[in-house]
Amino acid sequence: MQPFQEAIVKKLKEEYHTELGKATTKQLYNAVSKAALETCWDTWQKPVTGKTACYLSAEFLVGRLIHSNLLNLGLLGETENLLKDAGINPNVFEDVEDDALGNGGLGRLAACFLDSAATQGVPLMGYGIRYRYGLFKQHFAYGCQQEEADDWLSWGDPWSVRRDDEKVRINFGDQSVWAVPYDMPIIGYGGKMVNTLRLWQAEAIAPFDFNLFNEQKYNDSVQQKNDAEAISAVLYPNDDTDAGKRLRLKQQYFFSSASLQTIFAAYTAKNGTDYSKFADTYAVQLNDTHPTVSIPELLRLLMTQGHLEFEPAFQIVQKTFAYTNHTIMAEALEKWSLSLFQSVLPEVYPYVVLLQNRLSNELVKKNIAETSKYNLIQDGMIHMARMAIYATHSTNGVAKIHTEIIKNSALPEWYALYPERFNNKTNGVTQRRWLALCNRELAAFITDRIGNGWITDFAQLEKLKPYAEDAASRKQFLQIKRTKKDQLADYMYRKDNFGLNTGNIFDIQVKRLHEYKRQLLNAFSILDIYFGIKDGRIKEFNPTTFIFGAKAAPGYYRAKGIIKFINEVANLVNYDNDVNRKMQVIFVSNYNVSYAEKLIPAADLSEQISTAGTEASGTSNMKFMMNGALTLGTYDGANIEIVQNAGEENNYIFGARVEDLEKIKDSYDPKKLYAEQPRIKRVMDTLIDGTLTDGGTGWFQELYNSILEGASWHKPDNYYLLLDFLPYCDARLQANKDYADQDAFAKKCLLNIAAAGPFTSDRTIQQYAEEIWHV
Ligand SMILES: *Cc1c(COP(=O)(O)O)cnc(C)c1O
Repeated sequence: MQPFQEAIVKKLKEEYHTELGKATTKQLYNAVSKAALETCWDTWQKPVTGKTACYLSAEFLVGRLIHSNLLNLGLLGETENLLKDAGINPNVFEDVEDDALGNGGLGRLAACFLDSAATQGVPLMGYGIRYRYGLFKQHFAYGCQQEEADDWLSWGDPWSVRRDDEKVRINFGDQSVWAVPYDMPIIGYGGKMVNTLRLWQAEAIAPFDFNLFNEQKYNDSVQQKNDAEAISAVLYPNDDTDAGKRLRLKQQYFFSSASLQTIFAAYTAKNGTDYSKFADTYAVQLNDTHPTVSIPELLRLLMTQGHLEFEPAFQIVQKTFAYTNHTIMAEALEKWSLSLFQSVLPEVYPYVVLLQNRLSNELVKKNIAETSKYNLIQDGMIHMARMAIYATHSTNGVAKIHTEIIKNSALPEWYALYPERFNNKTNGVTQRRWLALCNRELAAFITDRIGNGWITDFAQLEKLKPYAEDAASRKQFLQIKRTKKDQLADYMYRKDNFGLNTGNIFDIQVKRLHEYKRQLLNAFSILDIYFGIKDGRIKEFNPTTFIFGAKAAPGYYRAKGIIKFINEVANLVNYDNDVNRKMQVIFVSNYNVSYAEKLIPAADLSEQISTAGTEASGTSNMKFMMNGALTLGTYDGANIEIVQNAGEENNYIFGARVEDLEKIKDSYDPKKLYAEQPRIKRVMDTLIDGTLTDGGTGWFQELYNSILEGASWHKPDNYYLLLDFLPYCDARLQANKDYADQDAFAKKCLLNIAAAGPFTSDRTIQQYAEEIWHV
């Protein structure tokens, strides 16, 4: 036995009084994780020298940690062999719940960044919230989404270490709580560097009073405990209500203050009260505006505990912080009501006023009289994106087009003021999780041809390009794709009790459910194909399986209506014996990181069909690309850079561009398209003519109206579904036709993989490190 294998056996014995053949999955999971943690403990505990970058994020969607950590430590093979020898399925850990402490792309990006930084030797600390319940679990009842609490800690949390000695006090207007850190090791590939993800948990200050003879004291104690723990109880609590908003603001300050207090105290312990080197010691990246209250918080610390005047404190703040913008939709830019902010954070508010005063002076000096678009405090609201741009030295977008939109149409007044601050950092994903781990067959295929350097140097993928010309390679690629489809079919049968036809084209759209991502357009196009086949309009059609996966925010009824609609379309198609040898439709339940790792390697077509100008970057488009799926998408987000690099002729790009929409937006008339195009009318009418039923919820009528009539808060067909419908159907049918020549299709897939090099988060992290953090 290898030393690590012995360590696992020993852990099982010492901690669980059991042995390999008898241990439960939970015991095995905890024993293997703890044994693995011990192998990198000393590396982890070594103090960091030099400048540290800190990544503040309300979300870290890390997924399942055990496989990626074992891979990075080089212990995955040994572990699997040990399990196999003991007669245990090496896939047992696929039952372990994901750490789902994030909603989607923004949280997954944070997780990919941590993996990349540790692998690239960049000292990067993650700071966030240890939510007691992560993103809800989803299942369907009669095609409608039902939510359940995500009790991820029921599996234990062997990768976290609680640090009671480093807890921090957080003060709100109406309560004080402890922030207790739980540290997770972030293990770089090869194990040379181990960074830390520190997640804060809220706890009551006063020890619990068990004095059961004093009912008042006991009840007060219970109340205090519950109020404190509520702060880190759930990911993004519903903020429709005022109570929800209050809690959300508390969450933001909670992790921001805890992180900044820690950084500040560590600096002071080392350097005393000379803060002149603070910004050379720490760089702090704000992942969206959620941690922006860190800015006045650091001002507060520097001015109260550090005894600095405002101006020198401001200079330090500005040099320390940088901000990443993730959205251009005006309604999604975060604002807080002034009165709420003052009541929740009375000790922080004065520093917001100081920032506003400094800004006002600057605007006067620059002769800017119209200040309403700049003011941090305006019309009774505090504007967080403005604060984040004003008080930092860098604002970045996450794809080229997104950065241009920020500069030219979302926040042009700020770009005019500080053009030098704006820069682009196109997102990426880690190829360790999204290729090496989730598609070992393709990883071996690549390594056989170009060596394994791509695992840490993804630019080497370019060397794969000549193999697109090699018939044997194309054939082998197609075999791998089939293997991944078969594996997905097994998994989906277990999870969703659905039988996939693995000889079909797999056409997949997986991402959070949102109107701008246009899952409804996808469903309309599937209906169009369905009617086309039934009517004989479509004669040649390569059998296709259309797969969806998405969660809708619990209060987002229109998104829930779209889920119900797609499930109804699936029923219509799957039970129709005229067409179900040609097409299948399935909406998988509880889409999460682990499901993504099964779905993406099996895809032939990657659906990236957001309205041009709405998706900041997208990252699943990159995961699909490196697994050899072709993009069927719009000119939006990183799709543009993907097809620029892989060749538009090797992908399927369709639809209106940002410039086109800009031109027609005032004259656009979806009713006209509906009236003039029978194919559009037919699919739209399925919402209201009884073809499909919403179970009496009224959701389908509402969807219909949202497109033809609009609503109080938006114009008709706000996301241009009907405008892009026919071009989308055409592109989709073209892809379907092209698939008939599988060999030619495989060539395109290989060219896409060979062009995926720039879309690693290793590249993104290197750019942040060099151009923003200077670490
Ligand atoms: C990558 C990923 C996302 C982001 O998907 P987009 O298509 O870029 O929005 C969301 N959820 C999960 C589980 C992911 O892995």
